[in-house]
Order: sequence, then structure tokens, then C-alpha cells
Amino acid sequence: MEFDLLFCDVTVLTVDEARPILRHAYLGVTGRKITWLDTNPPQGRARRTLTAPDYVLLPGFFNTHTHLGMSVLRGYADDYELDTWLKKYIWPAEAKLTEAAVTAANALSLAEAIASGTISFTDMYFFEPQLAQLCLSAGCMANLSNGAMSFDQHYDKAADRAWGEMEVLARDYHNADGGRIKADAAIHAEYTSHPEVWEAVSAFAREKGLNVHVHLSETRAEQEACVARYGMTPAALLDKYGVFSTRTTAAHCVHVTPEDMELLAARQVTAVHDPGSNLKLASGIQQTAKLLEKGVNVSLATDSACAINTNELFFELKLAAILHKGTQLDPTLIPAQTALRLATRNGAFAQGREQESGMLRVGMDADFIALDFDKPHLLPCHDVVSNVVYAARPTDVCMTLCKGKVLYENGQWLTLDIERIKHDVKHVALPCITG
Ligand SMILES: [Zn+2]
Repeated sequence: MEFDLLFCDVTVLTVDEARPILRHAYLGVTGRKITWLDTNPPQGRARRTLTAPDYVLLPGFFNTHTHLGMSVLRGYADDYELDTWLKKYIWPAEAKLTEAAVTAANALSLAEAIASGTISFTDMYFFEPQLAQLCLSAGCMANLSNGAMSFDQHYDKAADRAWGEMEVLARDYHNADGGRIKADAAIHAEYTSHPEVWEAVSAFAREKGLNVHVHLSETRAEQEACVARYGMTPAALLDKYGVFSTRTTAAHCVHVTPEDMELLAARQVTAVHDPGSNLKLASGIQQTAKLLEKGVNVSLATDSACAINTNELFFELKLAAILHKGTQLDPTLIPAQTALRLATRNGAFAQGREQESGMLRVGMDADFIALDFDKPHLLPCHDVVSNVVYAARPTDVCMTLCKGKVLYENGQWLTLDIERIKHDVKHVALPCITG
């Protein structure tokens, strides 16, 4: 057997129930695929061999609700009430963002995320075809969309920039590079659109075979206003207009009712958990344990760096594992293994990638990261999953691979020009906001 890369004597956290943890293992990569995973060494040759007894290999993270272009607003307006935050600070600043500014911010977010173990994104923002191009060259996976919005009585697709970007994404980028990039159809949210938008977007998703991305029941005010306006919750309402007829990613789902949870489970809608963003913006706390108990697929995300000031998932992973224990006075809720599943396999399912990604097994794509456990804060290692969830830090990521390609290794970005990115953020993006 021929390998491009062979890891020897490593610990592998597979997130596969059949054999969850392999110690002193061998993992071989050929092309885009994992071609060997066992505690016995393979026969054959490898172009590169890495013997690393302190390395822990696990699936790369899926950040399933992002606005990567917003990292230019990291720390721009913190600690305000939501309405003031949006109307006084965020929306006026966003109105000044140029294509070059958003592209610089996107590259910055990718650099931060890839170095901290994230390999796939479900993004909703503007200038998304440009982000598709960037993700193609950066080597990561992405499901990309611009969320349809309309405050007029009728939906004028030609007047909605999001619709135009969705068409370009679906035509030029859907399933690019063997499915590494996918176009999603998106509705920004129930409260920023109306039935004509929901029908148009869901018909487009069915016609093109796209997943749907939407913000759902993020705040109590949003939930209550929808019930007052339509006599239905946002989940029931969008379902009535066919929005959940293709695989859907619903961000937040903080204020969904028990009936909504059953509906999300029945329609296989993913409820994205953004614990950091929901806490900082005081939106509330998703009932994650209840959603999982009802059979809903829950995945993990940061939301934007302008909400939670970061694009890395270790913080959210730990938060997801400790938040529900503390608020419901039950230390058995969301065990470390479950939290890890939210960030990996459940994210792959949300993006429609569960056949090839999200766990480590022979035949799956080589989409994984390596953590260097030779660190004071990772010793001793009684339980490798506990150490990953409760003790590991983004800087413990020593390698990030996607589709067999090394994107990041020991402080070096191999597909991104980090000095150029930092320069563009300081000298191109920032002047848009402050200039
Ligand atoms: Zn969002």
C-alpha cells in the first residue's frame, strides 16, 4: 500500500462508536482518503512518516453557523443592549464594508479557524461568491449562502442582493472540488422576511438540491412577535411554507417550544448551538439536552466574531459541556463525548457531509486535526475525551488536514499568506470602518 502520509504511534479519537479510541495506532492517508487505521502497522511505503506518541488525532471541527466577514468588527461594540448594538453600531458599520474589506476579514477568520482546528463552515453573509473562491484556495470545506431578506409587501428577487448571490453560488460553486464547497439557500430570519420569500427560497432549494440555512428563535422577542403576527411559532410557520423540505440548518433555536422540537426532529432540521453568542448577547440558553433527547441533530458554532469575538471552537466546546450542567443543576448533562459529537459528526450531518466526513474510519475523507498533548495542562491523561473538551486550547492544534491536504502545521499556514492577510485587515478593512 502507498501512503502520502502515515502517522505512527498516535492516539486516535475516532468519534465512531464501533471503536472510539485507538492507542499506539497507525493512520494512513492516500490522496483525499483515510486508507489505514489500526493498532497494527500497515505494509507498504509512505512518502512522509510522522511518529508522534504525543499526538491525538480527531475529526476537524465543523463551525455550523458563522458570519466570517464580520471579524473586522471584533471588539467594535461590546456590552450593549441588542437593539442599540445592531441599530447604532453594527448595521451602520456593515453598510460601509466594501468587497475588499469583507474578503480581508474572511481570510482573517479562515486563518484563525484553521489554526484552531476548524475545517468546515456554514456561513451566511454577503460577498459569498468571493468567500467560495477563498475557501477553494484555502483548502477547507464550506456551505455558503447569503440570507434572503425583504421588508416590502412583495418579494422582488432582483432587488435582493442575497438572491443574486445565491444564484451565483448555486451555478458556479455548488459541489466545487468534489463537493468540498456547497451552496446553501438561505433566509436571514422569519422577522426580516415574509411568506413570499420563504416560498421562493424553499422552491429554489428543492430545484437545485440545496440545504437551507436560517436564523430561528434566537430571542424571546422574536418568538413572541411571530406568534402575535401569525399565530404560530417561527418553526411551525416556516415549515408551513415548505422551508424544511430540504436539509435545514437552524441557528440558535433558543426559544423553541417542545412542539417545535418535535417538528425539528421530524424534519431532520439541525439546531445549531451557539452558547457563547447567546450568552454575550443575552439571548438565553438553548435547551440542548432536551433537543437531543427529542432526537434533534444539534451542532456547534461560534456565530460571528463581532458577537463572541472569536472564530475558534474549543471555547464553545467547553461551554456546551459545562453550561447546561450549571444552569440545570445536573452534572450528567452534555457529557464530554456528546459535546465532541456536536462539533464533529453532527456538524457533518448538518452540512450533508456525513457519508464522507465527521469521523475517522477507513474510507472516510482525511479531514482531521492533531493536538500535541505534550503540554503541562494536558497531563496526566486519564481520559483523552475529557482532556480535549475540558483542558485543551486552540494553540494545542499542531496540524489541520482537509481532504488529505495539510492546511496548517506547527504555526505555519500552508494555503494562506498570513502576513498579507494581517496587512489587508489593518490597511484595507479597518479604514472602511474607522476612516
Ligand atoms: Zn447569526
